[in-house]
Amino acid sequence: KDMVTNMKQLVYVFGDMLCTVGAAAKVFTFSLDRKPDQKEAGELAPAKLQGKLAFYHVSFYYPSRQNTPALKAVSLELHPGKMTALVGPSGGGKSSCVRLLARLYEPKEGQVLLDGQPLHCYQHQYLHQKMALVSQEPVLFSGSIRHNIEYGLVGCTLEKVKEAAKSANIHDFICTLEQGYDTDVGECGGQLSSGQKQCIAIARALVREPQVLILDEATSSMDINTQHAVQGVLAGSVGLTVLVVAHRLQTVEKADHIIFMEGGEVVEQGTHQELMASKGRYHRLKEKLFED
Ligand code: ATP
Repeated sequence: KDMVTNMKQLVYVFGDMLCTVGAAAKVFTFSLDRKPDQKEAGELAPAKLQGKLAFYHVSFYYPSRQNTPALKAVSLELHPGKMTALVGPSGGGKSSCVRLLARLYEPKEGQVLLDGQPLHCYQHQYLHQKMALVSQEPVLFSGSIRHNIEYGLVGCTLEKVKEAAKSANIHDFICTLEQGYDTDVGECGGQLSSGQKQCIAIARALVREPQVLILDEATSSMDINTQHAVQGVLAGSVGLTVLVVAHRLQTVEKADHIIFMEGGEVVEQGTHQELMASKGRYHRLKEKLFED
């Protein structure tokens, strides 16, 4: 994976909160050193947001690969209260979609719309608050579990932290620890499994009460029970728009809608049952997995 992009994703999500933490200062500077690829932000910050996202004929090229499109005329919709999964083979374009949603890049053609308005029309801070991204390798900082979840959120109570941890299915585990929410996670979360780290990152996202939650394969290293629990809770969160980018296929069966991408294009979409019945690309990839 492109390190710079990962770092920028992290900075996008946690924004200026990062600069208060010594361990992260380097990350922040690193990002500022880069020329931002995104256009200026607009003024929109509506009090009420539905959270409907749409790609409308989006084509995109990376600056370093101007002759090959990473996305070709992609159109798709993500609905409030639904969990959508992006799946497909490596290089299919899933991460590129996430990077456009995070405004790390701008489409060359077409538009990415939030409630019908292009993303660049919204205020930066507004998008930070409304759209949370849990990256593939979430970073935890030394400090307590509580600190890692509230993470600079002003006025965040322990009750809210617990509520978010329950939704992310990590509360029960935290309660088994002698020091509970005050347990130090160790340097870079060294005391936790990667699945537990991802759950804490999900709780960190949820405590901010976003309208849109993007999980970049965030559940891949959880055991199957945890995966189902988290997905169930997320899908049940009232009105939350959830996008799961699944680089593996096991995590997506419960999604309300599955979008299969290959070669930068959406090649098929539907529910797990529909895609299995139509015996197309999804079905074939699933069978191949089974054989492996
Ligand atoms: P994976 O499951 O392996 O993460 P993906 O479906 O997320 O794959 P993308 O990372 O979106 O796929 O890649 C889409 C295309 O863009 C691929 O051809 C890839 O080689 C290219 N690409 C991805 N990142 C970059 C980058 N930083 N610079 C140039 N090209 C890139």
